[in-house]
Amino acid sequence: MHTFDPEMTDLVLGYVRSRLAMAEAPLDHPGKAADLADALSGVITNEGRDASEVLDIYATRLAPHVISADSPRFMSFIPSAPTKAALLFDTVVSCASLQGISWLEAAGAVAAENQVLRVLSDLAGLPARAGGTFVSGGSAGNLSALVVARETARRRLGDPRAHLRVAVSSQAHSSIGNTLRMLDLEALVIPTLDRRLTEEAVRAAFDVDGHAESVCAIVATAGTTNAGIIDDLAGVAAAIKGRNIWFHVDGAYGGAGLLAASVRHRYDGIEHADSLVIDPHKWLFAPFDCAALLYRKPELAKAVHTQDAPYLDSIHGDDPDEWNPTDYAYHLTRRARGLPLWFSMAVNGLDAYRDAVEAAIELTRTTVELVHERPYLTLLRDPELSNVIFRREGWGAEEYERWSTDLLERQRAFVQPTRWDGELVGRLSFLHPATTVEMVVEVLDAMA
Ligand SMILES: *Cc1c(COP(=O)(O)O)cnc(C)c1O
Repeated sequence: MHTFDPEMTDLVLGYVRSRLAMAEAPLDHPGKAADLADALSGVITNEGRDASEVLDIYATRLAPHVISADSPRFMSFIPSAPTKAALLFDTVVSCASLQGISWLEAAGAVAAENQVLRVLSDLAGLPARAGGTFVSGGSAGNLSALVVARETARRRLGDPRAHLRVAVSSQAHSSIGNTLRMLDLEALVIPTLDRRLTEEAVRAAFDVDGHAESVCAIVATAGTTNAGIIDDLAGVAAAIKGRNIWFHVDGAYGGAGLLAASVRHRYDGIEHADSLVIDPHKWLFAPFDCAALLYRKPELAKAVHTQDAPYLDSIHGDDPDEWNPTDYAYHLTRRARGLPLWFSMAVNGLDAYRDAVEAAIELTRTTVELVHERPYLTLLRDPELSNVIFRREGWGAEEYERWSTDLLERQRAFVQPTRWDGELVGRLSFLHPATTVEMVVEVLDAMA
């Protein structure tokens, strides 16, 4: 199993090469459990089987039932569009078994990952000593950051069991609700006007609430997943000033917009964040799975997340330059998942990233015009980033379902409706630089 096999290597790399060479990945189709069970039946045996047979099963029976998130026609949820450089280097991370636990074991990988974290931190205007690690996703980042917020408050209060709360907007991502449940933190849900957390909304909620001193953190969103709404970050920072409240900014999807000059002003105030999450596997064109987690004061995270075991003593030296990524989230073993982004940023340069992010914002602006031009469509909110929400007048669940199924069957687009004020409506999310206006026109015309 551990002997180099040139044939298998050519076989698998050949497949990798053909996937990379595709001008446009096929969208592919949903799968049926019975067909997949049939395809997989007897594949794992005691004796093993030929790699070409197994790869064939994967390529012809399994892969066609994985909808390609990196297709430029994928306009649902949040798409993905990893660069070729990042995809290739992901293979290096795998083939070199690059882990990224500690400085002792992986200084070279950790230093490069930290260089990328520095770029993101500078984009946000965080101080020079900010730092963190890459985790598997925004959910993991939100969880890891809010544990630090909770523990930091409990230590300040001298009460390790203190019952604390977190202020959130009703628009916060679903992972925040899960996090609060896991951490036994209660939510103080702040009502918003027009779905955006503002200074007035936060102040008003604290005034009405009789126990605002039990709030240990506030979560603002820099780009809601549904509609791309950026909270008033400067206003939130102002409202909590002097209150010992941890300011967490969830920019899992929208954080990448920091690169786009045309919308950068919408993020004003992000520099006050105590912790910040940005998912490169969303809009920074990195492969799954990759989320950047940054702390204003990393030592607070280290004090909470460092794992203590007799065999780990050797990774915890006294040299402040020795950065152990494992100390900044709930994980221990971790893939050096920031390196594909590092390679791609270095190869392509940041201007290419700026242009690619702007391209999606520009396509969004064009899509707004296309929606306005069609009498059967109504725009429901002016997009701030790259998600468009609109109504097809007269449609209900059945029509949206048919629209979605038909476009996927014909391999023209992957689109899904969303909910807006309880109503089922159309939603398109863009970030792939190869998504064209023509592709969008086809999707909107299919609603005529
Ligand atoms: C996607 C998203 C998350 C969750 O990130 P995962 O990488 O899917 O775990 C959290 N917050 C926001 C705003 C998101 O868009």
